[in-house]
Amino acid sequence: MLMPKMRAAQVTRPNGPFEIVEREVPQPDAGLVRIKVQACGICHSDSLVKEGHWPGLQYPRVPGHEIVGTVDAVGAGVSQWKAGQRVGVGWHGGHCGYCDSCRRGDFFGCTENLQITGISFDGGYAEYLVVPAIAIALVPEDLSAVEAAPLMCAGITTYNALRNSGARPGDLVAVLGLGGLGHLGVQYAVKMGFRTVGIARGKDKEALARKLGAQHYIDSQTQDPSAELQKLGGAKVILATVTNGDAMSAVQGGLGINGTLVIVGAPLSMQVSPLTLISGRRSLKGWYSGTAIDSQDALRFSVLTGVRSMNETFPLEKVEGAYERMMSGKARFRVVLTIG
Ligand SMILES: [Zn+2]
Ligand SMILES: [Zn+2]
Repeated sequence: MLMPKMRAAQVTRPNGPFEIVEREVPQPDAGLVRIKVQACGICHSDSLVKEGHWPGLQYPRVPGHEIVGTVDAVGAGVSQWKAGQRVGVGWHGGHCGYCDSCRRGDFFGCTENLQITGISFDGGYAEYLVVPAIAIALVPEDLSAVEAAPLMCAGITTYNALRNSGARPGDLVAVLGLGGLGHLGVQYAVKMGFRTVGIARGKDKEALARKLGAQHYIDSQTQDPSAELQKLGGAKVILATVTNGDAMSAVQGGLGINGTLVIVGAPLSMQVSPLTLISGRRSLKGWYSGTAIDSQDALRFSVLTGVRSMNETFPLEKVEGAYERMMSGKARFRVVLTIG
């Protein structure tokens, strides 16, 4: 019997090129769902696969964890999803449900079977993929596939970090960085009712920050961001989206009393001032993106409030150029592969 075929973009070794290959369309085993992909965002974390920085990664691997498509087939035991539903998959690809972390509801901390889309199993740079049913979010009809895809990682990460940050409506919240994550972070902060400050390098980013709804802008090249935030009363939360440790170190002095620096960008290191933390009972906190229901909440909130990612699109065949564009930092602001 002739098995149906599909195109996929795979990486076969660290720092190897993307190869467009023909593969058999995967079959959904028990507990899995097959998705026909419409669009998949390219995230900076996909470099973990491309450059081989994820310990124990098995090659060949198809990256991609900002996936939107339709349910195509379901495996045995999957009752909550059916063919034709519009769905998305993000970074969190599954968990065991039985370990102590899962039993406490901390699914991101699963110690037995934490699955990451596009790393633990093949991701969305392909026409089809199979994923654990537990990893799927419902995508509202109001969002196109290209609109929804970046919200499955960049969107949920900033949205979920902010809504769990402890900031309340009216509080001063700063977003450090106005790139792929930050341009969404500013929009979410504004729509959540925070007094929102955009912080980036250069006067030229101010117009963007204001367009995204920020009430204040700090140019970290010509101004001291900590001093400027203190002039505004001190930030309840600073959402750090950059990958530059010095830039993160430079804003911590802008935290108000009981303020929190919430870190979602991942530089190798940063400087922390213990006295700043102690004297104002300030804290630093990392934030993991979230699970499928968090993604669903992020999508629904985006529809409700009009938050959208700004995207550049490329067809699957142009994946190499699309990836380079993302890595160059010049994309405005997320790069999305259009597939189905
Ligand atoms: Zn990502
Ligand atoms: Zn677990």
